[in-house]
Amino acid sequence: MNTGLQGKKVLVVGLARSGLAAANLLLARGARVRLTDLRDADALKDRLERLEGPAQLTLGQHRREDFLDADLIVVSPGVPSDQPCLQEARRQGKPIWAEVELAFRCMNGFFVGVTGSNGKTTTTTLIGELFRQAGRPVRVAGNIGRPLTELAGEAAQPGTSYVVELSSFQLEHIHRFRCRVAILLNLTPDHLDRHYDFASYARAKERIFNRQGPEDFAILNRDDPALLEMIARRSSTVFPFSRRQRLEEGVFLEEGWIIARREGRKIPILPASEVRLRGVHNLENVLAATASGLVSGLEAPGMAGCFRSFSGVEHRLEYVDTLRGVQFFNDSKATNVDSACKALEAFQEPLLVIMGGRDKGGDFSSLRPLVEARARTIFLIGEAAVKLEKALGGAARLEQADTLPEAVREAFLQAGAGEVVLLAPACASFDMFDDFEHRGRVFKQAVADLRREWEEAQP
Ligand code: ADP
Repeated sequence: MNTGLQGKKVLVVGLARSGLAAANLLLARGARVRLTDLRDADALKDRLERLEGPAQLTLGQHRREDFLDADLIVVSPGVPSDQPCLQEARRQGKPIWAEVELAFRCMNGFFVGVTGSNGKTTTTTLIGELFRQAGRPVRVAGNIGRPLTELAGEAAQPGTSYVVELSSFQLEHIHRFRCRVAILLNLTPDHLDRHYDFASYARAKERIFNRQGPEDFAILNRDDPALLEMIARRSSTVFPFSRRQRLEEGVFLEEGWIIARREGRKIPILPASEVRLRGVHNLENVLAATASGLVSGLEAPGMAGCFRSFSGVEHRLEYVDTLRGVQFFNDSKATNVDSACKALEAFQEPLLVIMGGRDKGGDFSSLRPLVEARARTIFLIGEAAVKLEKALGGAARLEQADTLPEAVREAFLQAGAGEVVLLAPACASFDMFDDFEHRGRVFKQAVADLRREWEEAQP
């Protein structure tokens, strides 16, 4: 494939995992690569060792001249778009590509793109699983998968589909990237980054449909008022989804079933109650995944089987285990009050909830009504325990625990069959853990320890 990169001076900004993969892909294509990152060589030692060719380096700083001297700038997803050198390069008309744009130019395949304010990772993973279980060769790229540029450097089976999670920042810097299926899940104003107003945020998200033609599919949420105008503007084939209304064409709910209607044909998928993922927000992700599966040629029975078994993405309302009728769920990703509310809302069963960690300045009292309605006991851990106790006192029984494993053990001792032990911290993890993933793993290990002890105690 002639990508025109041979001999070009390319600046790669940001040397996280995708920056490294982009640099290696560029080197393999004969580009003259310079890397720049605000971190210094010490901090980037591991990454630099994995560079597969000679690249020039500007570390510990960004230099204006590197940006203005380059023929092309490739940006990693984590680089802020208000970065002054980047802004100046843009003003001067320098080509700026997202990492996924570079990958796209170097590969062939069927691309399914997923964006939205919430639910990207879950939906991307779920669609990958639908393809995999249908026996279609598939790779998942994005937040929890691998950078697309890493996949671009590898041999792939013919007909491989790539399911790609796309942030607004990446979408801002795509040009030829074309999604055969593009999914826009939702748009929420309270997820704005500091440099976006709502209109420019929506414009960035809408770019996922760029380059689509009539033979491509646009999957949009019909319940989201911010998306209605976009539906009218599409030149691709719109195949929407809705949780609230029946559709002439699209995927929706009817009498408790997930139903699709396509080219006049009604296709029952499965009863919504059989979907393993919890919460109405996840039901929307399932509707979107169904829509994208159908337009990609997947069969309904296989998708239904996948929805019955898919237990969630790690740390996002993830089902862990059931011990003597008590279910355990890990929502370590619920690092703020809003996502903890969503987690509590997802259960009908009485809850024993583990909360706490490092306070991010959230208003814990907005958890009160849900705690009153759904939680039997709250186990408090970490720095925020005292503040949480003040905010939630009287809404449920409150208990302090010194460590997360101790909280898990105590919750299990007190829980009866049919109840749920839920980790939904509403706080950051950094007071006791490396990150939310570490916290989630400690939770799951504590559950695994309980299982072992419980099994050993059985006659
Ligand atoms: P993202 O990758 O967009 O951050 P995730 O799939 O990681 O999304 O989910 C993060 C959190 O967002 C979940 O724990 C849940 O609280 C919330 N969420 C997931 N899907 C949706 C949705 N469709 N609508 C609203 N909120 C959602």
